[in-house]
Amino acid sequence: MPKIVTSKRLPVYTNKGQKEDDNFNAFHCKRCRTHLVTTDAELAQLPRRRTDGAMVLDARLQVVQLYTLRKEGSRTIRREKGVERQYVHACPSCDQEVAYTSKPHEAELELIYLSDAVDVPWHRMKSPWTCKVCGYICQNLQQLQLHRKQRDHTEEMENEQEEKNQLKPIVVG
Ligand SMILES: [Zn+2]
Ligand SMILES: [Zn+2]
Repeated sequence: MPKIVTSKRLPVYTNKGQKEDDNFNAFHCKRCRTHLVTTDAELAQLPRRRTDGAMVLDARLQVVQLYTLRKEGSRTIRREKGVERQYVHACPSCDQEVAYTSKPHEAELELIYLSDAVDVPWHRMKSPWTCKVCGYICQNLQQLQLHRKQRDHTEEMENEQEEKNQLKPIVVG
């Protein structure tokens, strides 16, 4: 099911069976703590780019709200397979480079690559024992099994939910 996002404002978001606010995380500038990104990307599944280890967000699949400063112009980076052009995003407060895209700023946002200058709230990463039906977080498998029993949240329901939320894997070079 596609997510419905209103532009500019923070996500109004319909994804049945999921609690809304818990799905959003704020990323901050490591240097000055300025809020840079809000996203519903699953932290446990945040892919990294092979070439430089940058974390990848995909605005076609996830809610990605940026508060970064788009730097003018572009730069080129030499890679094994040739030259790559990057359009840089910086922290609006301290000017630290925090991200880049491979498409110009005026193009619709697709992939954005975040550097390690961005602080990701890893402590909010969902535990592997989360009930996918209602989002309840358990500390271990026994607890999850008990929860499923008590609430009648079965694995079949989880799989259905999963299929509905299915995201295509991101292939990054
Ligand atoms: Zn900063
Ligand atoms: Zn549940």
